Amino acid sequence: MERSKRVVFISHCILNQNTVVPPLARAKGPYRDIIEEIMNHGIGIHQMPCPEYRYLGLKRKPMTKSEYDTEDFRKLCREISKDTVNIMKEYLNSGYEIIGLIGINHSPSCSIMGNRGILMEELLDLAYKSGIKLNLVDVPTDYYDGERGKEFIAELKAFLNN
Ligand code: SF4
Repeated sequence: MERSKRVVFISHCILNQNTVVPPLARAKGPYRDIIEEIMNHGIGIHQMPCPEYRYLGLKRKPMTKSEYDTEDFRKLCREISKDTVNIMKEYLNSGYEIIGLIGINHSPSCSIMGNRGILMEELLDLAYKSGIKLNLVDVPTDYYDGERGKEFIAELKAFLNN
């Protein structure tokens, strides 16, 4: 079968809420409606690593951006960013389309559209320096699969069709 040659980059926990700080998980596993929508468009999913999981593991407590903003955590985020941008470059150099990047609003690491998270600061800085322009969207803080998430799914549809 012909592949679509279209890929979207996503924050890790969109596919796996098991890495989220314990009280903040909003699904048992993936955000089903978001993943289904991406699948319905025939778009491949590149799941980035969860930087907070890598840094502090599963037993971490909720922390603010300034609490995460240490030299070590920045270094980890820069490493993830370098790896991710290299993967993006390979896709682009091979004629694939990168649909965009989906983050998590209000995350100290993965927020794109609000107060930008540390991973996204590093990633977008490196991507732009590498000449890669990305369409950007965040999963809103109040997103849940089902009725409550319908508005975002409509926004996502437009994003994926862009
Ligand atoms: S650091 Fe990013 S990927 Fe990990 S749980 Fe938080 S928002 Fe999700």
